[in-house]
Amino acid sequence: MNTHFDIAIIGAGPAGCVAALTLRNSGLKVALIDKDIFPRDKICGDAIPGPAFKAMEKINPLWAEDMKKLGTSYLIKTGQVTAPNGKTMKLDWVTFSYNSKRIDFDNYLLELVKKETNTTILENKRMQDVLLDNEKGTCFFTDNTNVEASLIIACDGANSVVRRKLAKEITNNEHACSAVRAYYKDVTGIQAGVNEFHFFNELLPGYFWIFPLDNGWVNIGFGILQKKIAGTKRPVNLRHALNKIITEMPSIAPRFENATMMHDIKSFGLPLGMQQFNISGKRFMLCGDAASLIDPLQGHGIDHAMNSGHIAGLQAIKCFASKQFNAEFMQEYDRDVYKKIGGELSRNTFLLRLLSRAPWLLNLVTIIGQHQRFIERIVRFLKI
Ligand SMILES: Cc1cc2nc3c(=O)[nH]c(=O)nc-3n(C[C@H](O)[C@H](O)[C@H](O)COP(=O)(O)OP(=O)(O)OC[C@H]3O[C@@H](n4cnc5c(N)ncnc54)[C@H](O)[C@@H]3O)c2cc1C
Repeated sequence: MNTHFDIAIIGAGPAGCVAALTLRNSGLKVALIDKDIFPRDKICGDAIPGPAFKAMEKINPLWAEDMKKLGTSYLIKTGQVTAPNGKTMKLDWVTFSYNSKRIDFDNYLLELVKKETNTTILENKRMQDVLLDNEKGTCFFTDNTNVEASLIIACDGANSVVRRKLAKEITNNEHACSAVRAYYKDVTGIQAGVNEFHFFNELLPGYFWIFPLDNGWVNIGFGILQKKIAGTKRPVNLRHALNKIITEMPSIAPRFENATMMHDIKSFGLPLGMQQFNISGKRFMLCGDAASLIDPLQGHGIDHAMNSGHIAGLQAIKCFASKQFNAEFMQEYDRDVYKKIGGELSRNTFLLRLLSRAPWLLNLVTIIGQHQRFIERIVRFLKI
């Protein structure tokens, strides 16, 4: 195996695949490296947000159209929010969106990279360390091999090794969220095309979701800010919370009476984009979850991962064209990412903090939300 590449992309999730797709005609030697063998599961709500299709459209409109076809069996048109007072509000989304199990969606993206690019794909290769010198970065793997590259694009998710070793900025717990996910079958009361979000007084500011999938499966989960899990007088245990919701909450439990669990409860972190920090440096860029770009209010990050992967690919082309890899030149990447999604992240950080301090606002919103014009304004405001 040739171990020197122009670019090493670490992580073949949505950010990594889109970075590789963006580099398809660059003439650069690119490696896309992942610790897993695909198809692989990714703990997620499986809701593919509208802007993810727009991100793909920028790379190739035909691929965006093709990507749309993957989930036509489970299009989502409405988000239904149930507030702690039991009142329900329906938001009809204006963007195209579907639910797709990440095992399928991520595999689809990687297959596209295999089909449409000359990228060298290395699976089953877990990176454990990275070192930089003046000419290159060296990535070290647990199988005792290493890969050298002039530039590293870190798409290695919430527990990014590259971020830990090279960016070193510590995100405090206030900016992270944890969630559990499970798959069930035969849950009653499922409405076609509707993703459900449920809030309960005793579990604020977290929420419980039910997202329908094909074949009668549903993706369910519960997520909450990490500061509510540890370091409080009444820490929340996520698995207990999820089990309690589906066995005891009067509005939910009857719907699970005859349901079957199809996949264990699994937990994972969501690095929320509640603070802007340096997401690049000499010879590296961080994308997606590695850069903490998840929307703090709605918890979606696939679209932001794809957008940042695309911007990183474009920045990489500029780096090689001008032979500049210094931290100052890389700052253009930070500026472009935050220009694209920074406004949305700041606004939704503000809204999350507001709802955390005044959860009664949720009740108020669902009461006013009975009026159609108010709903239309929320949809326009949140761009969903
Ligand atoms: C419970 C939960 C529910 C969510 N629900 C939604 C939702 O419904 N919609 C939505 O848009 N977002 C959701 N998100 C967020 C979304 O999953 C992420 O924002 C998105 O996956 C980020 O993509 P990424 O490419 O940055 O990282 P990932 O998708 O995490 O991909 C990272 C890749 O890097 C690989 N990797 C990691 N470490 C290494 C290593 N050391 N060496 C080599 N490879 C490595 C991994 O195997 C993985 O393939 C949810 C997250 C969670 C935890």
